[in-house]
Amino acid sequence: MLSNNQLYVLVAPACITALGGLLGLCWLIQRRSLFLLWTACGLVLTGIGLSWQSIIPKAELSRWAVYTGAIYLAGAWFCTLGVAHKFSVSAFPKTSAVVSALVLAILYQNSAVQDSIAVRTLWLNLGLGIIHFLPFPAIVRRPASKDRLERLLYWSYGLFAIYTMLRPAMVLVLGFTELKDMTVSIYWLVTMLGSLLFSLLFSGLLLIVAMRDATLVLRDERNHDSLTGLLNRRAFWEAAEKLNQQPGVGPVSILIGDIDHFKQVNDNWGHEYGDMVLKAVARAMLESVRSEDLVARFGGEEFVLLLTRSDLETAEQVAQRIRAKVSASGYVQQPGQGVTMSFGVASLAFDANLRQVVSAADRLLYQAKESGRDQVAVEPLFAPVAMA
Ligand code: GH3
Ligand code: MG
Ligand code: MG
Repeated sequence: MLSNNQLYVLVAPACITALGGLLGLCWLIQRRSLFLLWTACGLVLTGIGLSWQSIIPKAELSRWAVYTGAIYLAGAWFCTLGVAHKFSVSAFPKTSAVVSALVLAILYQNSAVQDSIAVRTLWLNLGLGIIHFLPFPAIVRRPASKDRLERLLYWSYGLFAIYTMLRPAMVLVLGFTELKDMTVSIYWLVTMLGSLLFSLLFSGLLLIVAMRDATLVLRDERNHDSLTGLLNRRAFWEAAEKLNQQPGVGPVSILIGDIDHFKQVNDNWGHEYGDMVLKAVARAMLESVRSEDLVARFGGEEFVLLLTRSDLETAEQVAQRIRAKVSASGYVQQPGQGVTMSFGVASLAFDANLRQVVSAADRLLYQAKESGRDQVAVEPLFAPVAMA
């Protein structure tokens, strides 16, 4: 039977296991952020290891040292795998395996011969700390992340790895006799509390990051056309209105482009080929503008571009460049199947309404179509119609 003291020391391991379970459940529901699953395995294993060591009789600790050690090492490696997965770096499986094998050999040798719990504690924690720390330099070396949440995540993880490695130093300060009755020692209490606090902090951060990532993916899907990856109509208007409010973006010009006789492209070469043409046109547009400009697919084979710091003349040049690129032989792969585009280009006069300019560009596109297609129709600087 467990004594009251043993029940008391089980609180922390139970909480760590429960946190692992919680992360696992979140992964099960979400099935997206695999790092949640790996960290869940890591926390559950660590929780099991701590529980096991807390309840086995003092005299049996050395007999089970290799098994409990193996559980801790596996737990540490799964946590490391979770972090490495989150930051797309290696979890160093081979190095971790070598470190684990070495630590287990030392634990085996120690429990059979010397039976010093202090020596075992020292080596085990050093091994755990090294495994935790392995992906850290690669994470820090990545291009600096602007994301504060992610920075907090990896720095807290790195600090925990260092703390794990240094924790046995406590034994030197407290004295080796302290560990004689390990589960009631200050060392064990600090280890438990440290692991629990870190698990709480780390699980909380991981859940927030996973939730944020999922929201970003959903927002991205909501704002972009799935075929070409360009902004959709709704997202274009949202971004355009916001961009237009910013100082220093003018003059702003609008281009509307439409693929000529696209119905025939589909009819002659099939819908899949049509889709490939749409993607090629989207690529040509993105290649012809700057990163702060907006490129959207308004629907079907109609595209709208918002160019910042571009007067009508520059905007016309951009439209001509896209038109030439798309119709150049070889750009759209099918032999003998040239694709042409027509454009309407208008520029935003001071204080004019963005929607009015888009309507003006649309009218000009219609003119380009009427005049024989494969051309760019430009209007002199657009002046807003005075309201009666
Ligand atoms: P025009 O030169 O006057 O613009 O003629 P058009 O044939 O390009 O214009 P129309 O509006 O008659 O036809 C547009 C075609 O675009 C019809 C539709 O099947 C095709 N289309 C719309 N969306 C997609 C898409 O996502 N993929 C493919 N492959 N075709 C699409
Ligand atoms: Mg068309
Ligand atoms: Mg059209």
